[in-house]
Formats: sequence, C-alpha cells, structure tokens
Amino acid sequence: DGGFRRQPSGARGGAGAEQGGAGLEGFDFSDFGGLGDIFSSIFGRSGRREGAPAEAMETVVEIPFRVAALGGKVPVRLPMNETCRTCSGSGAAVGATVETCPECHGRGSVTFGQGGFAVSRPCPKCRGRGKAASAPCGACGGVGETRAEREVLITVPPATESGAKVLLRGQGQSPRPGEAPGDIVVTFQVQADRFFRREGLDVVCEVPINLAQAALGTRLRVRTLEGKKVVLKVPAGTQPGRKFRIKGMGLSKGGRTGDQLVQIQVQVPEKLAPEQEELLKKFAESAGMVF
Ligand SMILES: [Zn+2]
Ligand SMILES: [Zn+2]
Repeated sequence: DGGFRRQPSGARGGAGAEQGGAGLEGFDFSDFGGLGDIFSSIFGRSGRREGAPAEAMETVVEIPFRVAALGGKVPVRLPMNETCRTCSGSGAAVGATVETCPECHGRGSVTFGQGGFAVSRPCPKCRGRGKAASAPCGACGGVGETRAEREVLITVPPATESGAKVLLRGQGQSPRPGEAPGDIVVTFQVQADRFFRREGLDVVCEVPINLAQAALGTRLRVRTLEGKKVVLKVPAGTQPGRKFRIKGMGLSKGGRTGDQLVQIQVQVPEKLAPEQEELLKKFAESAGMVF
C-alpha cells in the first residue's frame, strides 16, 4: 500500500506498563474462563483466620483507550477500614468503660445449636473483639473502625480489552476488625476514542482528505497511538475507503505487534461558487464525465 516513514524522534513505549507496585499483584484473567474456578483452584483461601473469609469485592474501572492500548497505570479508589480517630479504635464513647463482653464472656464468639450441631459465629455484641464498651463510640458505633477510601495505582497491561480483570490480593476490607482483608477484583472498561478504534492488535483511524488531494495525491501527517506524527504518502487517484497500513504502529501483546490502518475519506465540496461550477463542468466535459 502507501509509502510511509516514521518520524525519527522519540523511543517507543513511553507509557510502558511495568509490573508490580506497592502491595499490588496484577493478574490478567481475560484468557481464563471463570473467576470462581481461579479463586478456588489457584489462590485458594489459605491464610484466613477462623470465621467466614472476606468476600472478594468487585469494582469496574473505566480506562482511557490509549492507556488500555499501550499499557500504563490508572488511579483507583478503594474502600478501606481505618482506625476510628474518635475512640482510637477502642469502640468506647468518651468516659465509657471497656470491659469483658458480657455476651460472649470475652471469647469473641458465641455458640448456638442448629440441627443438632453446635455452630460458632462471631459475637454480635462485641463483633468478635471479646471486649465491649459500656457506651459505644458515636463516630464508629462501637466497631473501632471507620470506612475510608484510598487511591492506588493499578497497572494496566498493554492491549487490555473491556472485561479484562485484575486481582488485587489483600487490598479489600476486613470482614471484622483485625482479620485478614479480602481481595478486590477490578474489571476494566475501555473508553471509546474519538479517533482510534481497535481491530485485534491493529488500530484503525479515519482521515478525511479533499477531492484534489484524492485525485492529485498528497502527503498526510497522521497521528499514531503513541502521539507521534507519521507522514503518509497518498498516491494520486486514491479512492474513498482505501486503507493504508503503517507497520508496527498498533498494539503489542505476546510478542506480536499490530499495525495502524488509515482509512481515507474523500470530502466533496458541498457548495460551489458559480465560477467554480463552470470550471468543474469544463473539467468534466474534458474528462468525459457525464453529469
Ligand atoms: Zn470510634
Ligand atoms: Zn462478645
């Protein structure tokens, strides 16, 4: 197809996705079937204390087209438990006394019979702490913790598609104070771009040119995904809808790199001045065009 050359400036992969980060583990589940199977078979539920494990929280994060295509990092707000500042975590109101929980006698769990079995569950009064205040803290309701949010940066692998998931282990909330925090599953939702769209690892864009450019040929400066300008030579007689391929300017994944496809739109003038109309008619007659 059409000739092109790359601008010599700059190295590729400026927004490259380096793995890792503060306490984060990113896993791409997009190639797997069910998430439930992954949890049970690979990660298991080890390391949890007694009582029900924390459920994995799920959240959907919108990411810009360019970040999804090239990889990068996006900020995500995650819920977290924070020690209550009012009671410093004791759960007691000012002036209240903290004593052994009368409900569970300090054990933190209560046992009750169910269908002939003795079932144990966290004490509802002290929420498993074993201690209870004579009057609960008004700010946290006696739990000793309040809900807060924190922002973390999540690594987005290159060529990420909508629906791809990452698992953030231990980044969720604790089921009860002092217990191991749960996981968070982040599902990526890729935003549409005004200029680019994806076709596999190729990236497609449409570029309008005028009638004279199409008939006589032209040189276009086309923006790539990485924000560089590439000169695209459009030959004389280019038809509307023709696609030009710019090699290696698509997405990269698994050692393969796609191309950028530039689809040409030809714009026809909507209004002609009388003089222009006469010229075009003369041109048409000389070219043998019927109109
Ligand atoms: Zn409190
Ligand atoms: Zn209790």
